[in-house]
Parts: sequence; structure tokens; C-alpha cells
Amino acid sequence: MPEPTPEAPPSPTGEEATSAPAGPVLAVFGHPDDAEISAGGTLARWAREGRPVHLLVLTNGDRGSEDPAQDRAELARVRRKETEAAAELLGLAGTHVLDVHDGELENSVAVRAEIVRTVRRIRPAIVLSCDPTAWFFGNRYFNHSDHRTAGAAALDAVFPGAGNPLFFAELIAERLAPWKVSEVWLGWTNEPNHFQDVTGFIDLKLKALAEHRSQVEGNMLGFFEEWLPAEAVENGRKIGVQHAEAFRVLRLG
Ligand SMILES: [Zn+2]
Repeated sequence: MPEPTPEAPPSPTGEEATSAPAGPVLAVFGHPDDAEISAGGTLARWAREGRPVHLLVLTNGDRGSEDPAQDRAELARVRRKETEAAAELLGLAGTHVLDVHDGELENSVAVRAEIVRTVRRIRPAIVLSCDPTAWFFGNRYFNHSDHRTAGAAALDAVFPGAGNPLFFAELIAERLAPWKVSEVWLGWTNEPNHFQDVTGFIDLKLKALAEHRSQVEGNMLGFFEEWLPAEAVENGRKIGVQHAEAFRVLRLG
């Protein structure tokens, strides 16, 4: 198969990818609260604009606690409810949480099959996930393996998986025909090429995040309430708006 001709590198100003294609969106993340932190403003805005926005969470978040006595099955149940409450606030059309243990996500055929099944069912114009190549953010944090793996599995499911009838052919019997995704948006990236205006949606992003109560106990909510708006202001400055979220956008179609 011939390799597609690479395009010129996109403008770092974000002007290259400002018009997202119309249609449904599928967000794919590793943990129940990742979508809000990474892209909550963008997902809320798209939902408000009338797009069906769906969320697929690849682990159940059952290790999201520092308490050694925590019942992990109970935590998974709590986090599923929190995910649904947050999704309702954001205006999402649907959520699905896989029963994979937190910290054990693998870019396996089984996980890719679930992503491809969801892509073929929802037929999204855009799949939004996180950048699997981002290991290090400054010198004080490196990216969780579930985040990197979620991004890699999402990309591999989009291409070549979802669009090729010889991949996951068993789904065709479920009347899930191959589907080609037009764009992939990757948050948590060190190589953003697009800054999405989310002015007016930061409060909603924080409110949705606050629904993940098991994760924002103690002073964590205060930490997010400082960090996320500050990050959005810094990203907004790049395109002259109040608040923005940063993405690496790939246009495949
Ligand atoms: Zn996470």
C-alpha cells in the first residue's frame, strides 16, 4: 500500500485546524476523569453545539486511591457513577467504561476490538484521545502508562482497524461496517498544533471534574481549580482568546 504523502508541518499558531469536521465525536481515555482534565472544555463545547459526543473509558479506575483498605470493586462502582454524573453535566450523549483494571491497560487486540466496535457504532468524524508519545511533562511529572496506552490503542483502532473490513471482520456480522475517522485530536501533548477556544466552558469543565468526588478529596479540587484555568489562560493567549485547550490534531480524511 502506498504511503500517504506527508503534509507540510502544521502551523504552531493553531490556524491550520480550526474548523473541526461536523458529526459525532468519540473520546477515548484511560481513566474515568481523564476526559474532563484533558479536554473537558472542548467536549462540553461540542456537546453544546449539538454534536453527539460519546466517551469510552478503557479502565475502571479501581486503583485511584491511596487507601490500602480501599475495596477496589466498590471504587470501580463509585467511579462508574461519577463518570455518568460528569458526562451528564458536560452534555455527553453516552459513556461506556470497560472493566479493565486501573494500571493494567494494554494495547491488546481485545481492547482495540472494543474501541473499533464503538467507532463503527457511533461513526465519529473525530476521535479524541491523548498523545501516546508524551512521556515527560517538564521535570516533575511523567505520563501514566494507562494514558500513553489509551492514546496508542485509540490510534491503532482508528487506523488501520476501524476502516478496514479485514480487521475485526466478526463485527460485520453485528452489522458494524468499517468506518473511516476524519480527524484525531490528541490532548496531553508536547506537540500541540491546535488551540481550541473553550472560553465560557472552563467552569463547566471544573464542575464536571468535581463530580469525580473520589478523586478530588482533600485539596485536590483546589489544585485543579488553580491549575486548569491557568493552563487554559496560557493556551488561550496563543490564539487571543480567554481560555483554550491544546491538541495535536491529525487530519486523516
Ligand atoms: Zn488518568
